[in-house]
Amino acid sequence: MNSKELFKESKKYLPGGVDSPVRAFKPNPFFVERAKGSKIWDVDGNLYIDHCLAYGPLILGHCNSKIIEDVYKQIQNGSSYGAPTENEITLAKMVIGRVPCAEMVRFVNSGTEATMSAIRLARGYTQKNKIIKFSGSYHGAHDYVLVKSGSGAATLPDSLGIPEDTTKNTLSVPFNDQTALSNLIAREKDEIAAIIVEPVMGNIGCVEPKEGFLEFLREITEKNNIILIFDEVITGFRLSVGGAQTHYSVTPDLVTFGKILGGGYPIGAFAGKRELMEMIAPSGSVYQAGTFNGNPVSVAAGISALNQLDHSFYNELNKKGDYLRNQISETIYNLDLNLQTVGLSSMFQIYFNENPILNYEDAKKSDTEKFLVYFRELMKNGVFIPPSQFECNFISNAHNYEDLEKVVIAIENSLKIAWN
Ligand code: PLP
Repeated sequence: MNSKELFKESKKYLPGGVDSPVRAFKPNPFFVERAKGSKIWDVDGNLYIDHCLAYGPLILGHCNSKIIEDVYKQIQNGSSYGAPTENEITLAKMVIGRVPCAEMVRFVNSGTEATMSAIRLARGYTQKNKIIKFSGSYHGAHDYVLVKSGSGAATLPDSLGIPEDTTKNTLSVPFNDQTALSNLIAREKDEIAAIIVEPVMGNIGCVEPKEGFLEFLREITEKNNIILIFDEVITGFRLSVGGAQTHYSVTPDLVTFGKILGGGYPIGAFAGKRELMEMIAPSGSVYQAGTFNGNPVSVAAGISALNQLDHSFYNELNKKGDYLRNQISETIYNLDLNLQTVGLSSMFQIYFNENPILNYEDAKKSDTEKFLVYFRELMKNGVFIPPSQFECNFISNAHNYEDLEKVVIAIENSLKIAWN
């Protein structure tokens, strides 16, 4: 069956034909046959240079040979035990050694579980209920945070099934807006347990914090007995060895991870100061548990991945990011289009919008219809990116300069058509 036929078949058995909403683009998503390095092949015989990279985990590209070797060794010894392993200590030490705020770690199965648990911990610790998030940030698919959410939720109506009683405790303000946040905290300060923030907003495209914004978050949370949670599910082990907190030199109280930490296998984690983390069960009374927590296969893949991610790795990768963003900006300039290239490190996006983008409110004014034309044209030109203006594109070390040159030509061809 080809992708079109598979999608028709799939819709009979899986809601919307997919297992996660962003995958269902029109007229039909391609079904994957295999992937290797920077490339992904569909069942229809097409090859794409992959800048979606599974929405972020694959910083080492598809099928990294060292990860395959280490995972293979692990699966010969079992896939899940319901008992601890030495490798969990090894991976925890690797996280603690790299990430400034991490003194202890709990491994879970996804970014969603990580943010849900970190929020519960902040509430348990402060004995307060309210949390603040930034509009357009995406912290996973659980009830506490599906309020003014980014990523797939940005393109769909608000979810049914979430009791108002749950979300009345979730307040949101625009990212990069110090005044709005100060006013909110002044009104509610005795009730706010945590601020959760994506240090770089990767679920509305790619928006960096204004200079001083993360420092401001650190100060205002410290002053008001509020826990600062950096959601580094995207930025963790992507922006630098220590993630966004090292890149911007701001240390939160708690951090959440997913994606890269599992080397392409399912994982999540939250980590932070000992005093807080000791409150997690069984050492403390904030409950958190999971059959697959610290899964041996994911942990083996995570160790294998982090072992490869040293400073020189990021230097090389970030150079590729700079090269690609510069080439795209030059293309946009030469074509005289009112668009802008954004991003940093190995993250990039083109906003179909000429005005500065500081937050979701700005990003929403982008021309999403033209973006979708651009996305489809890119596929015709052999490049795959997430099918939404409100996602970020990624680069892996498996992308070579030849790939990137092809991508720039594909972008040029696609922009010419999308902008007409
Ligand atoms: N937090 C951020 C910043 C994310 O980008 C995501 C997923 O894209 C999540 C949390 C949720 O992670 P998961 O999809 O692993 O549940």
